[in-house]
Amino acid sequence: MGKGHGGWTEDPREALRVRPGFSLDEFDRGAKPGFHGKKSDGKALGKDRGALLSELQERLFAEGRIGGKRSVLCVVQGLDTAGKGGVTRHVMSMVDPQGVALHSFGPPTEEELEHHFLWRIRGALPRPGLIGVFDRSHYEDVLVVRVDDLAPRNVWERRYDEINGFEKDLVDSGTIVLKFALMVSKDEQGVRLMDRLDRPDKRWKFSRNDVRTRGRWDAYQQAYQAVFERTSTDWAPWYVIPADHKWYSRTAITEILTQTMIDMDLGWPEPDWDPFGMREELAVEMSSRALKTSLSDTVDNVESAIAEDAAVQREEVAVQVEDGDIDDAPARAEERATLAEVKAQRAERLAELMRTRQQKERLVEQARARETHGRGGE
Ligand code: ATP
Repeated sequence: MGKGHGGWTEDPREALRVRPGFSLDEFDRGAKPGFHGKKSDGKALGKDRGALLSELQERLFAEGRIGGKRSVLCVVQGLDTAGKGGVTRHVMSMVDPQGVALHSFGPPTEEELEHHFLWRIRGALPRPGLIGVFDRSHYEDVLVVRVDDLAPRNVWERRYDEINGFEKDLVDSGTIVLKFALMVSKDEQGVRLMDRLDRPDKRWKFSRNDVRTRGRWDAYQQAYQAVFERTSTDWAPWYVIPADHKWYSRTAITEILTQTMIDMDLGWPEPDWDPFGMREELAVEMSSRALKTSLSDTVDNVESAIAEDAAVQREEVAVQVEDGDIDDAPARAEERATLAEVKAQRAERLAELMRTRQQKERLVEQARARETHGRGGE
């Protein structure tokens, strides 16, 4: 993302992705990697991204409806007060509720304990076309289980590989897996827990367990470090998000999800019927008045669809330009090719718009003739 592009100076997927040698000890939880700007910039950007994300989600949903296999799964982990709930609500508020599926994972029930630890996770995976959000996840089985000794070491030790294999299968079957770990500093967590105690409207969020978990801070940090080292894979990388500034973590997760969905190259499904033929059939049962109204809406309808398409395509071009070096001739050539494609598609749409208007003008005339004829026959 170029400078002046709403505050991101680097793709957050690059800035926040776990790389070999990552050390949680040295991780600054109050930092804003890749983002140049203030809270108000983050918020302004969020609005802009909301519209785009909503359009992309609708395309994914439409794809799922016609037999597409793709879906997106956002795994959200973090210690108490890191903002998991806030982030999930934020992401979900930006898209159509029917397009997202949220699952929170608490302590396993008796029934769940009788099964393999991935059993309850498999049952909660997003169907094709959906964005799934996990508030806590299978990672608890190598976090709290490890820290609190809820299973013998040899049991949780083999889970890292099992998780990698499970996520590989998931990705191979069409689910994009995004894993976000919200990392708050110990001081900030203390302040947030105190807030919960102070405010009568927040006390319900507090549990004695939060203090106990906080007492195991170092053990949790080690367990998270092991998760990042052992389960950040090419197919399902971890993004570690500094969470002391809530606005930053929300902005970052929104951007990573949006960029990921832009890269999915989501289009609108092509129907297996011809709109011109279908229009003829529909018009038979419409009055000339209704057809006239529809005719006058045509340009606005088609132009707003073209504008939304163009917004997505502009983002696709922006991503390609950012991925390539400025002096990189192939990247430039690709950018030109994409722009040419955008232009050609727009020209095609406009030509179709012309033909649609002509057809509708004819249909209005036909309806009028039908109506006059009908009245004459009375
Ligand atoms: P949160 O703390 O996420 O806001 P909450 O306080 O409402 O949620 P629950 O959602 O009921 O509580 O449960 C969260 C708790 O469940 C956490 O303490 C977490 O460690 C625990 N948990 C989740 N998965 C497991 C698991 N597989 N084994 C044991 N404990 C688990």
